Amino acid sequence: MSEKLTSQMAIDLEDKYGAHNYHPLPVVLAKGEGPFVWDVEGKKYFDFLSAYSAVNQGHCHPKIVEALVEQARTLTLTSRAFYNDCLGPYEKYITSYFGYDKVLPMNSGAEADETAIKLCRKWAYDKKGVPANEAKIIVCEGNFHGRTTTIISMSTDPDARGGFGPYTPGFVIVPYNDIPALEKALEDPNVGGFLVEPIQGEAGVYVPEDGYLKKSYDLCKAKNVLFIADEVQTGIARTGKLLACDHENVRPDILILGKALSGGVLPVSAVLADDHIMLVIKPGQHGSTFGGNPMAAKVAVAALEVVKDEKLAERAEKLGEIFRQELRNVKSEMIELVRGKGLLNAIVIRPKNGKEAWDVCVKMAENGLLAKPTHQHIIRFAPPLVISEEQLMEALEIIKKSILVFE
Ligand code: PLP
Repeated sequence: MSEKLTSQMAIDLEDKYGAHNYHPLPVVLAKGEGPFVWDVEGKKYFDFLSAYSAVNQGHCHPKIVEALVEQARTLTLTSRAFYNDCLGPYEKYITSYFGYDKVLPMNSGAEADETAIKLCRKWAYDKKGVPANEAKIIVCEGNFHGRTTTIISMSTDPDARGGFGPYTPGFVIVPYNDIPALEKALEDPNVGGFLVEPIQGEAGVYVPEDGYLKKSYDLCKAKNVLFIADEVQTGIARTGKLLACDHENVRPDILILGKALSGGVLPVSAVLADDHIMLVIKPGQHGSTFGGNPMAAKVAVAALEVVKDEKLAERAEKLGEIFRQELRNVKSEMIELVRGKGLLNAIVIRPKNGKEAWDVCVKMAENGLLAKPTHQHIIRFAPPLVISEEQLMEALEIIKKSILVFE
């Protein structure tokens, strides 16, 4: 193993020894700092994916890495069979940060969604009086909540679902951004919750109409149904507010967070709710060996502090406006649409001369900027929120140049 690894060698190794469950751009990254990453040959790129919005605070943020390293030297894992001296202070911090009575700590985003589903079902039986095993959760077409068997059971994406049945029952699917459809589905008295992404990130950064979240919330309240927001991708300053639900002053009954909760240094996720909901889960009914471990607790506090200290929500709001405006001014037939909120944005690409979103992404990579198509014709742009205005303008030049080359 003394031979220096080239990009091609690394790609070949993954191809030969790794499962083929991803289709990455052919770039092999070896280092990151702030909004930048470097490949193994030393080429520098703007990172406009941020690990699907996990690296909102920038790569290797010194304060977050410091918290990680210090705690790693002290105590890494106790399991929840015992108390540890980091979890309680973290729980106090995060609940007051987001304004909830309680938090349930997990690791991945999918696990947090699973947790929210179990919490909602248990609440439906214990508090709402839904007959045993009859609880339903309304979800939206085009949703993305992760990859577990239950979660893909509520997906409408053929790639995510196909060939993995039988599926978990108990989900009702309605079109996204469709209030009458939701209203109708809510007539079923066995509905316990409505699970929704405030902006559908993976589906291609679909932003619902203004007022959709508030109206959905009000409809849920009228039917004693829990409004459950999956803010794994939209939360923690990405869209220009701490939470995307804050744009409509909606406070979810159950809030699901992940990704940037650790600034991208560890898998850390969380479900937040008030006592009358959270306390339906009793000892032994849910858990995870790593959930709430001391490193995760310390890292999450540091990651959330950075968001406040560096005013990342305000930055995302301001820079997002500039980003969309600049791209809307570009004269290219390939740009069908620019949409987004804060620094979660997308371009819908109109294919031209056989060239499509993938080709634009390959060209941008050549020119020093990384982004990835989501579905065939959509490119998502989500840089670390620590990017400066000057750096953003530089990145915009690369994006424009990479699209205009196909004109
Ligand atoms: N929920 C949303 C809205 C997501 O965007 C994602 C991942 O992209 C998840 C859940 C799943 O998170 P994880 O990949 O950490 O399981």
